[in-house]
Amino acid sequence: MIRKLMVAGAIAAPTLMLTGCGGYAATTSTTPVVSPNSAQMSDHFAENGLGNAVAVIQHPAGEHHDGITYVSYQGPKEDPYVASYNHETGEWFGPFKAGISIMGKDPSRKIDNHGKPTMIIDNAGYIHIFFGGHGGVLDLHGENPLGNHHYGENKHVVSKRPLDITEWEELDTIPPFGTYNQVVKMDNGDIYLFYRHGAHRSDWVYHKSTDNGRSFGEPVSFLKHKRRDDLAAVDSWYPYVTKGVGDEIVVNFDYHLCWDGAGAPDARGHTANRQDMFYMVFDTGDGSWSNIEGEQLPIPLTREVAEEKTLVARSGDLWSFNGPVTLDNKGYPHIGITMGEDLGVSKTGGPKEMRHYRWTGTEWVGGKAGVLPIANGAIVANDPEDVSFLLASRSDDGDGIVSWWRSADGGMSFKQTREMLRRPNVSFAISTFIRNAHPDAQIMVAERLAGTDRRNMYLLGESGLVQRPKSETGITRP
Ligand code: ZN
Repeated sequence: MIRKLMVAGAIAAPTLMLTGCGGYAATTSTTPVVSPNSAQMSDHFAENGLGNAVAVIQHPAGEHHDGITYVSYQGPKEDPYVASYNHETGEWFGPFKAGISIMGKDPSRKIDNHGKPTMIIDNAGYIHIFFGGHGGVLDLHGENPLGNHHYGENKHVVSKRPLDITEWEELDTIPPFGTYNQVVKMDNGDIYLFYRHGAHRSDWVYHKSTDNGRSFGEPVSFLKHKRRDDLAAVDSWYPYVTKGVGDEIVVNFDYHLCWDGAGAPDARGHTANRQDMFYMVFDTGDGSWSNIEGEQLPIPLTREVAEEKTLVARSGDLWSFNGPVTLDNKGYPHIGITMGEDLGVSKTGGPKEMRHYRWTGTEWVGGKAGVLPIANGAIVANDPEDVSFLLASRSDDGDGIVSWWRSADGGMSFKQTREMLRRPNVSFAISTFIRNAHPDAQIMVAERLAGTDRRNMYLLGESGLVQRPKSETGITRP
């Protein structure tokens, strides 16, 4: 009883402090909300995140449904963990282990991080988690018909009862080869699962389910991996997929020139280079794909057709790392993508700053350098000129920061409008927005502490961090 009162106080106080700042972003406060009960309350809700426990691309990682926010993340031994937060009572529940990955069990291997969970709640209230894949293993899974192998096994689990995170069962619905799961539920309840059908030399595919995720159709390739005949390399892709207007699903993507090690242009061999950006639209009503101007596209899309029909912008000498896309109130896409110079020092090239691109109705504009930090995160647009990012970045002296950045001029300039979280000497991994997010629980963050792979997990929204009694944050249920 006492604990409940404390929690209620912690929730109420920041709400009062922030009266008048409705909606996403757009306030000017620079200090995080501090609870009056901070002696008993923790800012994080769990302490068992692992490695890159959340990311933008594997999404959504959480969903709000009827006053409860459900979240998933990569926990011990790379297994998926699920917790929930009741916005009415202020109570947390979990985390519970939702499944078992075949990755993360061999202590001689580094953390793989590709199999972190993706979540969707179907129209009957069952919670689905997709996780654990990074291309599959030839000896275990046989030939991959749409790409190559690496590790892991893509899996699908579902809650045994609607909206109950305590028990889960594995369903045999999808091939083992997938990775980077992304899932979209349409207004009619159909569920589309997107992923790369293998390691980095594989097609991107989707499966459709019309029975609340109890079965999925055959994989359909929409981005084609293909050996180049002019270079010792293979075409590869990194899309971000999300719901558009009506029956549409929108996709932004960048290109990975997947070098054969020996044929690469420098001593690094194969690198994580990515470049250029592209955009297309999937009409789930008739199964057709088109570019921004409505011209039909043949799928799986090849590099040649992508460059001719779907190009948003070239990245020139810069390397990119694809981020999220969203639509403004006119239905025009806004894209966040990080870009930076290849400094040549590592296979990832170097740090990358967030950049913003948008469609004006007649052309793509944006990409301005120096207006957003080196960061990852989520994007939301209102009017075409009014666009905001919620970004995880670092200060010059090493503080990890999560803050809102808002533009009122269509991305020509951005202002840091509100800092949500700051911690010294850490960096943050950030998810994209929680599906159907409650204003108080918009996004998840994992705190990378120095010297350990363990992560404190945060949930934050308009009222600041969603706190939890300290006595509960270390509890993990099998
Ligand atoms: Zn590659």
